[in-house]
Amino acid sequence: MADCIMQVEARQAEAAEIALVHNPRYIEAMRRLCAAGGQYMPQMEATVGPASWDAALRAAGAGLTLADLIMQSAKCEMWSKEYEKNLNSKFKIPNPKLGFAPTRPPGHHALTDRPMGFCIFNNIAILAKYLQIRYNLARLAIIDFDVHHGNGTEAVFWGDPSVFYVSLHRDNLFPYNKGRGDDCGAGAGVGFTLNIPLPAGVGDDIYLKAFDTQVVPRVNDFAPQFMLVSAGFDAHISDPLGGMRLTTGGFRAIGERIRQMAEHSAEGRIISLLEGGYHLDGLRRAIMAYLGALI
Ligand SMILES: [Zn+2]
Repeated sequence: MADCIMQVEARQAEAAEIALVHNPRYIEAMRRLCAAGGQYMPQMEATVGPASWDAALRAAGAGLTLADLIMQSAKCEMWSKEYEKNLNSKFKIPNPKLGFAPTRPPGHHALTDRPMGFCIFNNIAILAKYLQIRYNLARLAIIDFDVHHGNGTEAVFWGDPSVFYVSLHRDNLFPYNKGRGDDCGAGAGVGFTLNIPLPAGVGDDIYLKAFDTQVVPRVNDFAPQFMLVSAGFDAHISDPLGGMRLTTGGFRAIGERIRQMAEHSAEGRIISLLEGGYHLDGLRRAIMAYLGALI
């Protein structure tokens, strides 16, 4: 598999790019907080330190780096001039369709004006807005299979019919009272949020049934032009926080379904950003299985 993978360094997101989602006053407040040494914010379940600012800018920039590689690689001249300098692998993929960023901090809980649940900036929401504005894509899907509900992402696109947000999560874990099955968007966005809360302790069969009966038909019907994935692996059976029983093979099977959905309408284009995942060996195995299925 190594000869079809290339490693690129994530650029920092610009403040204006983060402001596609976040309040500029919040961005500046976070920069100052990190520069002043950081803080533990127990009410938001978030901590930042002096190094968090660069990490958060790069976590937000990682998806943008991948988006540019995928969207511009067809134009070979631009590829060589603008992006060759970023490549630190001897392998060059002429027309990449898949991107994965092992981002820390994660992003899907971050709100427009607050950090939350280990998240500072909402990396996947920033990426979606960037793809829409820079590359003029009309319809995007975000599949979020992290064990926690992606409340921040849901809030950004709650009234937006151009982004179909799908979350499979453990019912009423963190954040509480979010991601209920009848939460489906508002205004023009009604029907473009799909929440699938699952009972604690379920495994591959229940997850795959939810994909096959709800996620795949709804996403194919929507026909996104690009697939984005909030890829959290804290529903893995070995995870100490999640309390679910998805196996490594289950993540492979989820990856197969995401690949098929992307091939249906999105020219196979998928960017996955890491969200949760707190058992390092389980995380490693689940990521390898998931990416193996995408590739
Ligand atoms: Zn999580």
